[in-house]
Amino acid sequence: MERTAETAAGLYERMREKLSRVVPDFELRYKAELAYRINTLKKERNAVILGHNYMEPALYHSIPDFTGDSLELCRKAATTDADIIVFCGVRFMAETAKILNPGKTVLIPSPRAGCSLAESITAADVRELKSRFPGVPVVTYVNTYADVKAESDICCTSGNAAKVVASLGVERVIFLPDEFLARNVAKDTGKRIIFPTKSPRPAAGAELEREMIGWRGRCEVHEKFTVEDIARARAQFPDVVVLAHPECSPEVVAASDFSGSTAAMTAYVERTRAPRYLLLTECSMGDNIAAANPQKEMLRLCSVRCPHMGEITLEQTLASLEETRYVVEVEESIRLRAAGAVQRMIEIG
Ligand code: SF4
Repeated sequence: MERTAETAAGLYERMREKLSRVVPDFELRYKAELAYRINTLKKERNAVILGHNYMEPALYHSIPDFTGDSLELCRKAATTDADIIVFCGVRFMAETAKILNPGKTVLIPSPRAGCSLAESITAADVRELKSRFPGVPVVTYVNTYADVKAESDICCTSGNAAKVVASLGVERVIFLPDEFLARNVAKDTGKRIIFPTKSPRPAAGAELEREMIGWRGRCEVHEKFTVEDIARARAQFPDVVVLAHPECSPEVVAASDFSGSTAAMTAYVERTRAPRYLLLTECSMGDNIAAANPQKEMLRLCSVRCPHMGEITLEQTLASLEETRYVVEVEESIRLRAAGAVQRMIEIG
């Protein structure tokens, strides 16, 4: 039986129930009106909306059919039967949806939603590393563009990185492009890591004794959190439980109580009972967890924001559906090779 369409008033009430503690009412009314128009159009056009955990609260709690981290959304993108996928996230995520759905129209609401990690490495850089370390498999974080994925053996997310590395059953891996995630995975898997410089090349022997070959890409959000931030928060709130994303430095991860992907952090907050939590990740995610867990107190450092995720708004999403913009394309020979790396990751889970 088809679900009765939600009315504009019903949508406002649903948003108010979740968000009245984090969004002022006048803004909520304005955003509920936009969200209603998006949801109506979404139905007319047989579109599905995927929303990353870093979307702002009013968008996150109103228009996505599915929310989650990049791995969860990858899985949803692989199984949808909608004609149009609107990706409320950044470009590399929308590209991954296109890689998995070549016959569908994939839209991203803003062409400016990039990522400092994805921009830190090119396909030529990966080819150079492969020629320098022949036969060593390349594991690439999904936070990369399609041409970089196409040069890789397998992709990973922050949620499954150690599992993907272990699944290869080899001594040495090239792990790209996030320096901190690589160092955290090296620590978890007991591997020694090297970050090769372009020039001058170190002696071959020095490189060969390392098991993990990394790259110095960084997330411009997570690299900003420091051990001092944690110490100050603990001094002010001695009972705080600190959660850090694995794109934070190993020192920050070590000073935290828990580290995991955005999905793992959400699950951790839901299954534990601490007086308060400090989330070291994009600030909107703290708002979204707070909205879903009103009885729990969340602290977040909102001076650190991802400008790329912030590009995706309800206004831009409405325009995206109205004008079929901005269409994400991936050249077919690149798509086919990238799809192999993404599918291998999905099979591992
Ligand atoms: S939060 Fe970091 S990794 Fe995520 S999109 Fe922004 S810059 Fe990229």
